[in-house]
Amino acid sequence: MSTSQIIGILGAGTMGNGIAHVCARSGFSVLLCDIVQPALDRGLATIQQNLAREVTRLKLTQQQADEAYARITATTHRDALAPCTLAIEAATEKFEIKSQLFRDLDRILPPEAILASNTSSISITRLAAVTQRPTQVIGMHFFNPVPVMKLVEIIRGLQTSQATFDAVKTLAQQLNKIPVEVNDAAGFISNRVLMPLINEAIFAVQEGVATPEAIDTIFREGMAHPMGPLTLADFIGLDVCLDIMRVLAEGLGNPKYNPCPLLIRMVDAGWLGRKSGRGFYTYESS
Ligand code: NAD
Repeated sequence: MSTSQIIGILGAGTMGNGIAHVCARSGFSVLLCDIVQPALDRGLATIQQNLAREVTRLKLTQQQADEAYARITATTHRDALAPCTLAIEAATEKFEIKSQLFRDLDRILPPEAILASNTSSISITRLAAVTQRPTQVIGMHFFNPVPVMKLVEIIRGLQTSQATFDAVKTLAQQLNKIPVEVNDAAGFISNRVLMPLINEAIFAVQEGVATPEAIDTIFREGMAHPMGPLTLADFIGLDVCLDIMRVLAEGLGNPKYNPCPLLIRMVDAGWLGRKSGRGFYTYESS
């Protein structure tokens, strides 16, 4: 994809601002769109902080960081995305929100534009079906924190064309990421394999087999995981873990994906992990 093309990004939250950062860092002009100005302000501030960190770590020069930041234009007007030849949607994980966005993008963007979603769990085939261009709809699943993590799962919907797949794979490589191809099934690969591991670790805590500390130590020291499954669950958010287990249980129809009752109780209690100050561990600042 030529860097003269403009990439539209929908949602300036955790993932959207990270995706905007890596696109701008690779030379693309970016239109970053959110529904509310404070979300854009927060997203832009995060991008600035993260670019500054890369300058400190000598990954970018100050000039490269300034040029990258200057390539990002923020807007609350969806119609401003009309010049984009690719949109990457990273809005809230609700089918109603995303399907409305895809309908709008289909109307606003030129007919040749590709519409990608960063969804963690929603079917790409279902999103594609609300548009008039299902062959040009695809999943582009980045990992958090986006400027650091190399992987992008590229998810083909049932109707995604080879040309769309090739274009998005090339883009991922231009962004200095490692693309991996996956077909459209609940949880794709990353969450389908990771979340049952986390869920099983929670069953082990519930049954008193071992403490969270012991389980995490086993995975860190015995399996060379950089963090244990319960530390990771706290980092992701226990509510997000629960939502994904429910998507797996519903989408794959196998009781082995039923969420652990302890996970449900902790979410009911508002113990959501790092972001709420308490999960399997406690955190001083939430
Ligand atoms: P977030 O809550 O941090 O950000 C979502 C943003 O979308 C918010 O700023 C919100 O104002 C905005 N938004 C809502 N409706 C919108 C609309 N109609 N148009 C434009 N913006 C809109 O969420 P997040 O963690 O960045 O997740 C975004 C997407 O990325 C979700 O689909 C999520 O499943 C996926 N994802 C998240 C992670 C993660 O670790 N957080 C990892 C991979 C994928």
